[in-house]
Amino acid sequence: MNIENIIKKFNYDETLANFLRELYPEFIAYFGADKEPIIYEALYNTPILIGDNVYQILKNNDMLDNDDGYAVSAADLKRSSGAYQSKAIIDYEDNEFKIKEVKRVVIVTKNYNNGFSKSPLIHELGHLIKSYYNEYKIDNDLLIGRSGLIETKKRLIKDGEKIKEVLIEEKGVGLEEGLNSIMQEEITKKLVDPNFEISGYGVLCHLAKIIVGSDLLSAFLEAEIKDDKESLITKLDEEFIPSAYNRIDKIFDKLYILTLKRFSEIFDKNKFKITTEEIEKLIKEDFNTLIKEINNARALRKGM
Ligand SMILES: [Zn+2]
Repeated sequence: MNIENIIKKFNYDETLANFLRELYPEFIAYFGADKEPIIYEALYNTPILIGDNVYQILKNNDMLDNDDGYAVSAADLKRSSGAYQSKAIIDYEDNEFKIKEVKRVVIVTKNYNNGFSKSPLIHELGHLIKSYYNEYKIDNDLLIGRSGLIETKKRLIKDGEKIKEVLIEEKGVGLEEGLNSIMQEEITKKLVDPNFEISGYGVLCHLAKIIVGSDLLSAFLEAEIKDDKESLITKLDEEFIPSAYNRIDKIFDKLYILTLKRFSEIFDKNKFKITTEEIEKLIKEDFNTLIKEINNARALRKGM
């Protein structure tokens, strides 16, 4: 499992190659040595593309989701500094939907100084690594996708020769973005800038750090990379309070929607202020209440 094989396969230029040589061991250190096979496979089977506009590159590579209803919209992508995107290619054979292949791509935008945006690349490769194992499953006419703790359900509909996909549900985006930003911040500090702080997803990252605390990071990483959310839910039931995971998940998804909304309101002072207040209210009421309940339950258990 040598990163040079990956660099050679995609013929990455020297700047990107040198950065990957530094990044690869950091990923192994952060995610755990037992995850190296997944990290290597993921990087070996996914091209990194560098360009001006994430939306345009996805469009040119036929990797855009045609559905509305995702948390991330086309407008968000046009503003974005990077993306990890995958697509399951579905066949219909013997009255059954089947996954023929999974196409994947990591995209980052150009940067005037270093050739490409390093910190966003760390973030997007994190999404890739946390999606790669068991990314898609089919259950009758449902296509179930996952990316770390994010779960996406789509209904598959046969339409003549084509197969249409209709989004039914997407959840877990907020928590996953918070967790992925913790990783991004830590590795960016080591490799790029010791003073780096997450800005866009700053609130999600800060709150995810509170949830993960000092002792749960490896449990989260295991669930995110090895497709084992059930063990994490059980662990949080025991360590925190019953239904902790679901409550955390819901609060983070609400926060995520508000965070994207606030990005889009940067030039409208009034709207920006109202959404900021909504975010503050959600943290003060829902999040802090939950943390208090968790802390009380933990204190009680310790006292017993
Ligand atoms: Zn992300």
